[in-house]
Amino acid sequence: MALLSVADALAQVLQDATPLLPENLPLADAHGRVLAADLTATRTQPPAALSAMDGYALRGADVATAPVRLKLIGEVAAGHPFDRPVGAGETARIFTGGVMPPGTDTVVIQENTAREDDIVVINQASASGRHVRKAGLDFTAGEVLLTRGRQLTARDLALAAAMNYPTLPVYRKPRVAMLATGDELVPPGTTPGPGEIVYSNGYAIMAMARGEGAEAIDLGIAPDRVLETVAAIRRARDSGADILVTSGGASVGEYDLVQRALAAEGMALSFWRIAMRPGRPMMHGRLGAMHVLGLPGNPVSAYACAFLFLIPLIRRLAGRTDIDHQPERAILGADLPANDERADYLRGALDPRPDGAPVATAFPVQDSSMLTPLARAGCLILRAPHAPAARAGDACSVLKLGV
Ligand code: AMP
Ligand code: MG
Repeated sequence: MALLSVADALAQVLQDATPLLPENLPLADAHGRVLAADLTATRTQPPAALSAMDGYALRGADVATAPVRLKLIGEVAAGHPFDRPVGAGETARIFTGGVMPPGTDTVVIQENTAREDDIVVINQASASGRHVRKAGLDFTAGEVLLTRGRQLTARDLALAAAMNYPTLPVYRKPRVAMLATGDELVPPGTTPGPGEIVYSNGYAIMAMARGEGAEAIDLGIAPDRVLETVAAIRRARDSGADILVTSGGASVGEYDLVQRALAAEGMALSFWRIAMRPGRPMMHGRLGAMHVLGLPGNPVSAYACAFLFLIPLIRRLAGRTDIDHQPERAILGADLPANDERADYLRGALDPRPDGAPVATAFPVQDSSMLTPLARAGCLILRAPHAPAARAGDACSVLKLGV
């Protein structure tokens, strides 16, 4: 049977994944969350013409030439408008953010003036309309300024506040439960016995999930026994996980424990092998409402599969509309051999050439157990199935790796 392509596998993972239900959150809690509705400005900003400087509000026609002497008739500060009209030959003191009094259209900055009691001498001619922010300069009531599916930045929160929204409709955060399996695994900080190794996968994957705005639930390590694995799967369900990520127990010929335990719990399997390297034994299914991604145990395979499948799935559940990784163009720094039928994701350095063009150089050893080159990698270099041999200097596609 031909293995499933990465693109087809991703399409299956996303097929019945829909955004989680929206909730309303105070602005202060909404950073990084995804808007569940378009946001329309409920007011105009600025609501009236405002001064952009400290100076004098006046009629532009009065200062087409200078010097000119104007009568000072009042003062306007931010939040304290001055309602009397300012006539020809008159002016009002104004501060930044002050509402332009009726009749005025121009501000002359105070540096270009001199005061003689209630007379203001304007020393420099000024163009009409200078230093005034017109009503609606920033936005107008009724305009849609932030759209559904947008992940909210710090700047978006300031804009939403200015639009007068105290709370925002956002999609619920996906909950990702992480379960490691393997009799040989011990947590970091303990002393491994004979044949044991230190559990590493979950730390990268949980950090990756949190970086995508998900909540991570650490289910720890299950030994290679169906009963314990089933118990951990139930804990994932009881914790309200939207996604269960497992690692290990996936190699053919091993115990295939994870798949057996999931099947016993009623998982609908969609696939369990794909045409990629690292990461062929990658599994996907649904257990009720919970999406299940069964990652291979080798740390690099687990990371690559999580990068390619978990991140888009989290983004989809979180309501984002921009969910795909965008490959970037680079120049190969070293020759590559022809590829076989599996898409290859080579770990490599990504460094700029002297002219700034990015150069991607695959590390010489591509073993899916090796964390040192993974940690040092700047990118994954994409090699399509059956790609011909490539030479240093050829163009290539890379996926930049995150922090
Ligand atoms: P498995 O898929 O369980 O056969 O695991 C494949 C390889 O990955 C084995 O060498 C495991 O020891 C290793 N491995 C599995 N899970 C982890 C993990 N969570 N952290 C580090 N290595 C792991
Ligand atoms: Mg194992």
